[in-house]
Amino acid sequence: MAAGPFLRCTRCGSEHSDREPIWHCLRCGGPLEVSGLLPGPADDRRSGVWQYPSMTGLHDARTIVSLGEQSAPIVPDPVLEGVSYHLQQLSPTGSYKDRGVSVLVSKAKEWGVRSLVEDSSGNAGASVAAYCAAAGIKATIVVPAATSAGKRAQISAFGAEIVLSRDRGTAATVAAELDATYLGHNWSPYFLAGLTTTAPEIVARSGGRAPQWIVLPVGAGTLLLGVHRGMKMLAEAGHLAELPRLLAVQAESCAPIADAWRTGAPDVPAVPVSRPVSVAEGIAVPAPVRGAEVLAAIRESNGACVTVGDAGITAATRRLALQGIFAEPTSGAALAGLQKARTRGTATGSALVVITGTGLKTLGGATPAGCGR
Ligand SMILES: *Cc1c(COP(=O)(O)O)cnc(C)c1O
Ligand SMILES: [Zn+2]
Repeated sequence: MAAGPFLRCTRCGSEHSDREPIWHCLRCGGPLEVSGLLPGPADDRRSGVWQYPSMTGLHDARTIVSLGEQSAPIVPDPVLEGVSYHLQQLSPTGSYKDRGVSVLVSKAKEWGVRSLVEDSSGNAGASVAAYCAAAGIKATIVVPAATSAGKRAQISAFGAEIVLSRDRGTAATVAAELDATYLGHNWSPYFLAGLTTTAPEIVARSGGRAPQWIVLPVGAGTLLLGVHRGMKMLAEAGHLAELPRLLAVQAESCAPIADAWRTGAPDVPAVPVSRPVSVAEGIAVPAPVRGAEVLAAIRESNGACVTVGDAGITAATRRLALQGIFAEPTSGAALAGLQKARTRGTATGSALVVITGTGLKTLGGATPAGCGR
């Protein structure tokens, strides 16, 4: 296929045109990635995702759908040596998801999509609802029946329709029924491409270098993958001497990636894990779509994987709040994971903890989310 962005299947390698709406490989059903992206040049008139348009796969800047996302600040921990925080909760809808969703919805607009379907139990659904509102695209969000009232309220506020998966089946089925386009964020190669812009932003804010470790709460693992791919693009272009090591943090009660990591398996099991609940609802993902890619990225970065329990997550979230950072428990899990890794002598160098979502999402306490609902 010609140079310039095109879509490639991460499972079978087949190539697909990026001129029509498509959410997975037409040959094998695997997840797609955008190939042929470059890490520059930066557009310094903009901040955040759209400062790096060449990393997004969008062809036409006129279809950019932005709610004013900005490059996220980095602040040091006042006590813990070498630890700092990337404040991605300061985003239009309060989570890092906006960075990827801005690109996903811009591409949908470029494709001429009028009505799209997304599946999510929380932050991604709210983000898709907001960006679709800005784009004038009708959004239908398929959510598990157990989704908390607060998260449903945020999705509805943006005018999106909520459909309970218990009543109507999978999101792809709902899309077919509604004659809408299914563009789920966990499958979207454009959501992933948007997340790669995290890498140049971190490097620019860290004096042209990457921290030794980047610590992330991992559910589907798309954020981790985006960071890793972005860093690799920078390294391949000669802008970065050494890749940061990735510390992936999962909740003990729902840890398919950590479990596979421990046994050295190349992929997560096809059967979703189903175990007790966690306060870290944003990372309770029982069957991550890109599990094999996530495991390969952690390995390639010379990284590590840890799990944390709800008591540690709650304590770390409170610690963040008592220094003025209001994070949701899912983000607190990352700090809990770093502390655990350090007690084992891992991740003792400079470490950047990504704060992925705001505490405003879980006012009144997090609803423990069942893995697999
Ligand atoms: C979605 C989400 C995560 C997990 O991100 P993945 O890309 O699924 O690993 C972590 N924190 C928050 C606040 C989220 O909304
Ligand atoms: Zn394929």
